[in-house]
Amino acid sequence: MPEAIDDRVRALNDRYRHHAAVAVVEHALRDPQVGQVALVSSFGAESVVLLHMVSVLAPQTPVLFIDTALLFPETLDYQRELARTLDLRDLRVIRAADLARHDPGDQLHRTDPDACCALRKTAPLEAALAGFSAWITGRKRYQGSTRAALDFFEVETPTRMKINPLAHWGRADIEDYMVENRLPRHPLVARGYPSIGCAPCTSPVRAGEDPRAGRWRGQDKTECGIHFVNGRMVRGPVAPAAEPEPAPTPADGPEKRPEDSTPRRERVA
Ligand code: SF4
Repeated sequence: MPEAIDDRVRALNDRYRHHAAVAVVEHALRDPQVGQVALVSSFGAESVVLLHMVSVLAPQTPVLFIDTALLFPETLDYQRELARTLDLRDLRVIRAADLARHDPGDQLHRTDPDACCALRKTAPLEAALAGFSAWITGRKRYQGSTRAALDFFEVETPTRMKINPLAHWGRADIEDYMVENRLPRHPLVARGYPSIGCAPCTSPVRAGEDPRAGRWRGQDKTECGIHFVNGRMVRGPVAPAAEPEPAPTPADGPEKRPEDSTPRRERVA
């Protein structure tokens, strides 16, 4: 791939600008300008959508799952269920090295949650992504002003890009896709967890609350806090596909869809 990554990303966005999410995934997995691709999944509330697309289009795609060792048992059960039912053929469970030394009592999340996230999520993810030239995320434009202009392809580092096939999707699209493809739900969603992270840092959400209100409740923290830019750790929003996605709640009301939104009745199989 002799072309600079900025040029490749620009060309990819131009080429696939009017494609639907499924087509973006399909082309991204095959386009030589993208290179070696992994899907990073938290097996959270909305993860099954991209997992399903990849499983149908190319089930041999590497799927990276970060097991922080502090996840809900339901998440681990769901991960195993989806790996089996979707026939994910290259699931890679990523774990932090030497947790016993760095967080012997599993209490770091209480004293320094940013350091805990860096230890258990960010550093293992960065190591697992070595060798990949692109990874698929579940980020969407509706999730915040910083993502309002999110493109399908974006530069992450000089050697790696992120792919956001669901950039134009809203919550209703996610819901429709799950219903139409009869996909299994994370069991905690029905118990009031529309966004699911580690057990010590996730609580149920009450009607009317933001779907992410249960994450780090009571703390001045809304994201994992540390991520990598150009190989350096910096403070800021977490590498998003490693983060559980918010799911719809009854109190959320009708979804506002961007004008250029992907068609809602999108099918992959
Ligand atoms: S979400 Fe909580 S327990 Fe999980 S890595 Fe971050 S601080 Fe640690």
